[in-house]
Amino acid sequence: MSAPLLAFDIGGTKLAAGVVSPEGDVIAECIAATGDEPTPEQVIEKLFHLSEEALSGAGLALSALAAAGVSFGGPVDYSAGEVITCHHLSGWEGVALREIVGGRTGLPVVIDNDANAAALGETRFGAARGCQHVLYTTVSTGIGAGLVIGGRVHRGANSMAGELGHTHLVPYGPRCTCGRMGCLESVAAGWAIARAARDALGCGADSALRSIPPSELSAEDVCRMAQRDPLSRRIMDTTGAYVGLALARAANVIAPEIIVVGGGVAESGEVLMAPLRAAFRRYIMPEVARGVRIVQSALGSRSGILGAAALAAVEAAT
Ligand SMILES: [Zn+2]
Repeated sequence: MSAPLLAFDIGGTKLAAGVVSPEGDVIAECIAATGDEPTPEQVIEKLFHLSEEALSGAGLALSALAAAGVSFGGPVDYSAGEVITCHHLSGWEGVALREIVGGRTGLPVVIDNDANAAALGETRFGAARGCQHVLYTTVSTGIGAGLVIGGRVHRGANSMAGELGHTHLVPYGPRCTCGRMGCLESVAAGWAIARAARDALGCGADSALRSIPPSELSAEDVCRMAQRDPLSRRIMDTTGAYVGLALARAANVIAPEIIVVGGGVAESGEVLMAPLRAAFRRYIMPEVARGVRIVQSALGSRSGILGAAALAAVEAAT
């Protein structure tokens, strides 16, 4: 496949459309805010508008493209090409996104959730290039994961493989977004980091975070302060330890050669990665750990677009 690819990224806060070469070079990209409570129809219209701008920026017609990929911020029924649900936007249950995008573009289309797309994107274009067995995780507002096993995305029997964020870790722990208690996400996602900071401040902890109104306190603030504020550092140490423990459990099962950590919280770098690696080494079986590298995402904020392009490049023709 040598023709460029059309890539769509549908997230809770950001929409993007891009034209990407089969080698992973972004030829043109247009981004817009998702907006407040848009309907699926409004999101789709906005996306096609962005794609027209991207095509015009690239000086290409749709007919010059080989295939389209869509990275969606929520569970997707891969074989049906339909959205299962979206935790950030309403009304997406059962939307036949593959058919809609295929009908509008005339291209072969692959859609998948953002974690699977990013896992394949990192494998084809990013930090895991050349690897066959990849465990990708995103630590952001939520925590997701994507598995590449033998060079292919592993989706499981019902497209739901990779729900690392809802692995139970803490008996009687906090309530999670999924309704259960003590999931990884309930103690290490962005919202859990902000909650831990607010709780500590509410109990009288001394911290530079006091300069921020509690209602505005975010995980980003805690990550940013962690280099110099002991409370923020302790929260990030705990966050990293929980993610490292969950990754060790997953790695014991699938034996990856590389673990790629992406998402907004991971952009804080060693503040998360150092305690994460320490916990991973502590809890994984030593024979499984041999040779496993743990690295940060190379695609960063472009993981959606490049993940979608990777889906189109690898899977649209198969
Ligand atoms: Zn959960």
